[in-house]
Amino acid sequence: MSDHHLHLHPHNDSGVAHPQAEYRPGLIEEYVEHAAAAGVTELGFTEHLYRCAEAAETLGRFWDGPGHPELSAHTEAFVEADRTLSLERYVDVVLAAKDGGLPVQLGLEIDFFPESIDAVLDLIEPYPWDFLIGSVHWIGPWAIDSSDVTWEFDRRGIDQAWSDYFELVEALAGSGTVDVLAHVDVCKKYGHRPDAEPIDMYAAVVEAAALTGTAVEVSSQGLRNPADEVYPSPRFLQMFHDAGVPITLASDGHTPAQAAWGHEEVVAAARAAGYVSRLSFDRRSRTVAPL
Ligand SMILES: [Zn+2]
Ligand SMILES: [Zn+2]
Repeated sequence: MSDHHLHLHPHNDSGVAHPQAEYRPGLIEEYVEHAAAAGVTELGFTEHLYRCAEAAETLGRFWDGPGHPELSAHTEAFVEADRTLSLERYVDVVLAAKDGGLPVQLGLEIDFFPESIDAVLDLIEPYPWDFLIGSVHWIGPWAIDSSDVTWEFDRRGIDQAWSDYFELVEALAGSGTVDVLAHVDVCKKYGHRPDAEPIDMYAAVVEAAALTGTAVEVSSQGLRNPADEVYPSPRFLQMFHDAGVPITLASDGHTPAQAAWGHEEVVAAARAAGYVSRLSFDRRSRTVAPL
């Protein structure tokens, strides 16, 4: 079994100056050992590109877009505090572990900003990625998955927030730029849900993913948050299954103790939707493994 969404550092607090992150000896081994205890023997690391200093110029001041000025200020402070990684160093550390025989794959979590996605792909092109996952964390200046700024759900309205979010996810799925859609309904993270599940929005994302051959991850992150539900929801995951969209398994863990977190729950959710297999990756080509 596998966990194809792992980070090597927790996020940093806004408003605090943080030193560049270190990769202590044995860090990746700790993830491998912790996951193995849960029966998970294949790990895909997917560091956030936006946290890497090398991406600062390419991504630019994406928080300057139209929207409430407090949202721009929040995102600017958050990104500034969180940008303590080096892409070069991250790649070196994971490749060294892989070359040393550990069961790890080199991935990256990319934010989807329509205006810079092409430049981002150019930036990361030189590296030997096994797989890329794509996310929407920001709608313009609004960090939709941040507990600091959930008031924007009230200001904008939940229906509008979900519609704005899924418009970007549909564009990401339709772009065919990544191998896997990450936490595809993270808009429910803090429990802001419309009266009924937006089946039309789901269908547009599913159709785009099916057309471009993009997979979707089944993630336990939602179980650690007020959403209290795997991403995607049972109905949404059923729609992916019925359209033939493959899956990966994911914890979105940011510490060794979170490696393979909620593994049994994500496998159960996938099986309940009818899945009998999941993907693995090697240098952007995929293989199918039993679930
Ligand atoms: Zn994410
Ligand atoms: Zn992540």
